[in-house]
Amino acid sequence: MDSNVSLNTPIRFLKGVGPERSRILAKLGLFTLGDLFHYFPRRYEDRQPVLSVSEARPSDEKICVRGQVSSRGLLRLRGGRSIFKVVLTDGTKSIFASWFNQPYLAKVFLPKSQVVFYGKADAEGKKTQLVHPEYEVIPPGVAREPIHSGRIVPIYPLTEELYQKTIRYLIYAVTRQFHSLIADPLPYSLRMRLDLGNAEGALMQIHFPKTFDNLKRAYKRLVFDEFFYLQMLVLTKRRQWQKENKEVTHKTGEESVGRLLDSLGFELTAGQKTAVNDIISDMKKTRPMNRLVQGDVGSGKTAVAAAALAFTAANGFQGVLMAPTEILAQQHYIQMTQALEPLGIRCGYLAQGQTADERANILDALERGTIHVAVGTHALIQGTVAFKRLGLAIIDEQHKFGVFQRALLKEKGQGRAPHFLLMTATPIPRTLAMTLYGDMDVSVIRELPKGRLPIKTFWVGENKREEIYGFIESYLKKGQQCYMICPLVDTRGTTSQKSALELRSRMQIRFPKQSVDVLHGRQKSDDKKRIMKQFKDGKIHILVSTVVIEVGIDVPNANLMIIENAERFGLSQLHQLRGRVGRGSEESFCILFSDTVSPETAERLGAFEEMTSGFEIAEKDLELRGAGEITGQKQHGFPELRIGDLVKDFEILESARREAGAILETDPFLTAPEHRKIRQALQDRFTLQDKPLAALA
Ligand code: ADP
Ligand code: MG
Repeated sequence: MDSNVSLNTPIRFLKGVGPERSRILAKLGLFTLGDLFHYFPRRYEDRQPVLSVSEARPSDEKICVRGQVSSRGLLRLRGGRSIFKVVLTDGTKSIFASWFNQPYLAKVFLPKSQVVFYGKADAEGKKTQLVHPEYEVIPPGVAREPIHSGRIVPIYPLTEELYQKTIRYLIYAVTRQFHSLIADPLPYSLRMRLDLGNAEGALMQIHFPKTFDNLKRAYKRLVFDEFFYLQMLVLTKRRQWQKENKEVTHKTGEESVGRLLDSLGFELTAGQKTAVNDIISDMKKTRPMNRLVQGDVGSGKTAVAAAALAFTAANGFQGVLMAPTEILAQQHYIQMTQALEPLGIRCGYLAQGQTADERANILDALERGTIHVAVGTHALIQGTVAFKRLGLAIIDEQHKFGVFQRALLKEKGQGRAPHFLLMTATPIPRTLAMTLYGDMDVSVIRELPKGRLPIKTFWVGENKREEIYGFIESYLKKGQQCYMICPLVDTRGTTSQKSALELRSRMQIRFPKQSVDVLHGRQKSDDKKRIMKQFKDGKIHILVSTVVIEVGIDVPNANLMIIENAERFGLSQLHQLRGRVGRGSEESFCILFSDTVSPETAERLGAFEEMTSGFEIAEKDLELRGAGEITGQKQHGFPELRIGDLVKDFEILESARREAGAILETDPFLTAPEHRKIRQALQDRFTLQDKPLAALA
């Protein structure tokens, strides 16, 4: 083998790969030999038993037949159509294979050539016939095994211009010729302990497995690798963050937190207490906190945030709380003001809709340090915002923010790295939390405050609409309020969607004695505020809304939620919406309207009727939709998984995380001889991966 060849060698240096083909492969992200090794099959077909011609029988399953071409013929039909037929024999018997409109096959099947067919066999008179089988011609005089038949055959993801056989052959050639280039970065002892095969074997067997057991083993090894390097990356980032600064250590302040909690009028749940204690102990350390508080909707994360803010203020630092929508930020501002001002902690509010004067005043106060806690939207991360002494940054409902905003908020510490807290109501399945937030410590609030009743959930069709309206009527008579959610603001282009505006008019007509209003994303922020306030004050009885109320709104007297076109929402989103009700001790209801005919949607809505726990729902959502959609991982720059599956493979993920952590614990910079290859592999994966050509040039 040419000693200049490496895994970084461009594919175009391979025999049979010209500029055109390398262009097509580049579209699939395939530039180098290494890329081909890591271009994993989408699935496999078992084409193992190869029958002789006399063994071939008509059957429902596809079969593989090997024999010699004894004769062939092209039959031209009218209109330029044609049938090409081949007779295949094993000396005693013969079968046919036929193809329509592929006259060029006459050049492929020469008399006496050895071929393997793969396809469905029908009875044609007394003969067996294969219609449009896949084929492989075994070149004469070459003792090579078949690639496309007679084995467990890999099926690769394709683009339009690429044939399955082309990519399969290419990968076959590369795995046979260059497998010895594959080094194994993992220490032998680790592989033995975890019973992982070696990298070279795994990368050969994942493409052309000898047996399904081999395939399983190869898969395990490669999934381990994928998770292992990801965890290495994530854990390394975490260490960097913790190194960054030591100036924000908090010393005292428990007394202040205690006073705050006493004033709340309820006792914290066990989960809330643990979260508060975790946060306080983090903030007293010399390195900045980096913590995720994960709790189902209604679990009381706001109180936890208030405690953290009180603690930072008691230590002479400022705190900031950022929320994804103005409505939510506004609500937080009101709550924080109520909770914190009695302790002498001054709060300020910052959002887009403010006048220049208002804004200037707040900015000035933040810079001078006369405002201790700033609550707002992403207006908080604009360049002009500066703090005197930022000690704590909190992001609520963080799924709406990307890592970029996260970083910007941290920078507001100006040289100091503030303590950092993320709060999310979207329950993140454990596997995802480990992968996405592996760089964070996690506190989970598992329980809801005592006395909450489960939300009764019903999925109904249009035919039940009048009945449901009757129910709403009797419900409102009790002096309670109701939300109605619909997916779009208006009907432009999508007549099937019930728009919020249209629905508002309809509801007002149907319920003339009630006050009905509407809330949607295109309103001015003053209008939104006013409407939310009226709803909170009980002056609006039916609030028709788009998903702007998806997160965080807290109106204890509203315990009925109607969701229109429920098929348009994902599970987690439905759960978020439903979480707006059932906050007090009143019995609460969620009614989904949908006439869906799709089995998948029916499964989703059916599951939602039954499930109450956010964690359970998130697992199901992950199963139904895949991880990418839930996390928006592409947007967030999270590397896409190539082979591992967060749900199916979470045990491997756990062990990968453990091992990565153990190695970094003793050798944080991976400088020990036995870890150097791991460091190299890590760099290859996360820096070279996407621009290998540039790196080689
Ligand atoms: P989320 O976790 O969804 O942000 P909130 O913080 O908005 O939840 O709390 C939901 C409601 O529960 C609020 O009305 C809040 O006052 C109330 N609450 C929070 N913690 C408790 C508790 N320990 N006991 C009783 N009610 C609580
Ligand atoms: Mg909240």
